[in-house]
Amino acid sequence: MAADAAVRGIRSQDPDGRIVLLTEEAHPPYDRPPLSKGLWAGEDESRVWRGTEELGVQIETGRRVVALDRDAQQVRDDLDAEWEYDRLLLATGSRVRRLQGPDPGVIYLRTLDDYRQLRRRLDAAGGNGRTVGLIGGGFIGCELAGVLVEGEIEVRQYFPEEAPLARVLPPEFSRLLAEYLESLGVELHPGQGVTSTEEVEDGWHLRTDDGALSEPVAAVAAGIGANPRTEVARDAGLPVDGGIVVDAGLRTRDPRIFAAGDVARFPSSMTGQLELVAHEEHANESGMLAGQAMTGAEVCYDPLPYFYSGIGGLTLEVLGFPSPEDQVERALPEAITGSGLARFRRQGRTSGVLIWNRPGRAHRIRRLLASREAESDPEFRELLATALD
Ligand SMILES: Cc1cc2nc3c(=O)[nH]c(=O)nc-3n(C[C@H](O)[C@H](O)[C@H](O)COP(=O)(O)OP(=O)(O)OC[C@H]3O[C@@H](n4cnc5c(N)ncnc54)[C@H](O)[C@@H]3O)c2cc1C
Repeated sequence: MAADAAVRGIRSQDPDGRIVLLTEEAHPPYDRPPLSKGLWAGEDESRVWRGTEELGVQIETGRRVVALDRDAQQVRDDLDAEWEYDRLLLATGSRVRRLQGPDPGVIYLRTLDDYRQLRRRLDAAGGNGRTVGLIGGGFIGCELAGVLVEGEIEVRQYFPEEAPLARVLPPEFSRLLAEYLESLGVELHPGQGVTSTEEVEDGWHLRTDDGALSEPVAAVAAGIGANPRTEVARDAGLPVDGGIVVDAGLRTRDPRIFAAGDVARFPSSMTGQLELVAHEEHANESGMLAGQAMTGAEVCYDPLPYFYSGIGGLTLEVLGFPSPEDQVERALPEAITGSGLARFRRQGRTSGVLIWNRPGRAHRIRRLLASREAESDPEFRELLATALD
């Protein structure tokens, strides 16, 4: 997604410079968020395409870059072709984490092909046999659980935490989310991490960390996190520290090489440290600015990140850089489907805001958060609360 945005950024400055986009996937760039949401709720698959090919760019699919030679200003792909560059963008995204043990049948949902494979497997099971074992209590697991169960697929969701999204949400909110998913008909298995899977005649079993084996399911999908794909940068001697380190101009230590999206670790004035963000808006905005910077434009990327998630009929939006260690002030919804808000504070400052089920309000709150004067204003808290009215 960041690569497509970068092409747009380049084209906004330079209508006809040569651009080559190398991707290991079999497809041109597409939007990933619908893979765990809208596509299961009847949206047409064609809506995912970003139309990069209309921007005068040579798209080379099915090519994985395996080496970067900075002196020769060249990358090499796994088909042994070499590609020269004046400016290079690394927008390699993230690689899914996998189960520790054998994992036959597990579909780790990251790509369009993963989505298609899961869909085929559930379609093949047909009727009453449509059961899915879902591994992971994060955003992807919860989104899939909500949308599959509404499509009359039986969902059993396994995760090691006490409640879904417990690593991200304050405990009261994750308990509400558990209640909500159960009200939709999702069978939750909290406190049960999956260590491996086993293939049987009628599907797959999941083995949990207490040694138990589940009933067979027709398909197994997993969303258990992802790590930035930094190996090409690291092997070329670029600074990597949990992500490819860039400055506020999205430039690595090599002035000809840029990074954007999930893989880039950039300085934030809000936290005073390097941050990694794996969200759609960040991919779009950092990609766009990196593209402009590649043409020589001066850019400064210092975002107040925004993330949304749709789980069944619930909307969750997160602003800033909240962390589980932060202090939390919360306004809980009166009912599971009502609206709520949590403000995260670190060292006396707001580090993030969670908006529970009140779409459309995030932009107002974001404006308040971005204004440093508002932060020191005693009425700031009231303002946040009234933004929900
Ligand atoms: C199922 C799903 C649902 C999501 N839902 C949301 C959501 O609701 N809201 C939200 O804000 N975010 C969501 N996200 C996150 C969002 O999609 C990512 O943050 C975004 O895709 C990051 O863009 P990117 O360009 O950095 O990486 P990617 O989109 O992952 O693109 C990286 C591309 O580089 C390719 N690549 C990697 N290494 C190489 C190599 N060496 N050579 C060639 N090609 C390579 C990869 O195959 C991939 O095509 C979701 C993600 C997933 C998977």
